Order: sequence, then C-alpha cells, then structure tokens
Amino acid sequence: MNFNSHTDAVVVIAVGLVNALTAGEARGRPYEPPADGARAEVVAEILDAGRGGGVAIGEAEAGELAETARALRGVFEAVSRGDVDTAARTVNRLLAETDARPHLDRHDGEPWHLHFHGAGGTLAGNYAAGCATGLAVVLGSDLHDRLGVCTAPHCDRVYVDTSRNGTRRFCSTACQNRVKTAAFRARGA
Ligand SMILES: [Zn+2]
Repeated sequence: MNFNSHTDAVVVIAVGLVNALTAGEARGRPYEPPADGARAEVVAEILDAGRGGGVAIGEAEAGELAETARALRGVFEAVSRGDVDTAARTVNRLLAETDARPHLDRHDGEPWHLHFHGAGGTLAGNYAAGCATGLAVVLGSDLHDRLGVCTAPHCDRVYVDTSRNGTRRFCSTACQNRVKTAAFRARGA
C-alpha cells in the first residue's frame, strides 16, 4: 500500500485483532474468540506481527483489546456495505476515545518513525490508538474502500486489500478456494 510501513503494520494488527477477538463465522464454521485466560497468548502473537519479538501483554489488557476489536469490526463492516460515513464517524470516535496522538520515536537502530500513542501509556491503549489511526489513514486516502469483510458463505472475517488492482473479496485463500470449489460443483451439477 501507499502508506508508511508503520501504518501498514497497525492496519494488519487491526485486521488480526478483529479476526481473532470477535465472534461470528470463520471459513465456513462458527467462530468463538478465545475466552478469558486464553486471550493474552493470541493477542501477543498478533501484536508481534511476525517480528519475532514476543510482546508481553496480560489478560486484562488483552481483554481491553477485545473490546477495541469489536469497535474496529464496525469500521470494516461499514466500509464493506459502502457506508464510508459511518466508518469515518466510528474511527473519529475511536480516535477521541483512545486519545490517539502521533509521536516520533527512534529505537532499536531504526530511523525516526511515527508511533501512535494513546492515553495512559498502556500497551493496550497504545495499540488501540494505533489501530484507530491506521484505519483513519486508510479511510482518508484513495484506498478508503480497501477494508472489507469476507464475501464467502459463512465467513465474516475481515481483510485489508493490498492488491494492486483492489479486487480482493475473501479473507483468505481458504475461503477463495471454498467458493471456487462450490462454483465448480454447481457447474458440474
Ligand atoms: Zn473468509
């Protein structure tokens, strides 16, 4: 995408949090998010986003992020039904609630880069602010329609479409293949 890499990273984290922490359906099956006591491990993996660093987060903060995830889901759902106004209002509310503020930081030998901190300086608060800001950057850009909800049957997981032509419709190749197989069977019948 055209955003800076940190914005991309928080958008990917927003997708990960929504998909792991909100109930619904995933790839053809009912989905229940991890219960109290089992959330922190799942959340730590998402926040780490492949950096291999191991983010230390407690159950209480993971629980806060589950609430954030439910609010973030509303943004994806609104965009996917073409209601960008509602998506924008939801993001504005989240930016206010999380007290998101930009902050230049330099650590671990990286160049100066933009972080999005929230009120209170907690990890959950910072990530909530970061996710809200990431979605705000997407909604405020030409790529505002790139947030989506999977269109496969019995799946409501979300995605961000980073393809060049913006034609993504599924959360995963698993769902893409399910739909392809069903269409193939329907033609054969
Ligand atoms: Zn799906």
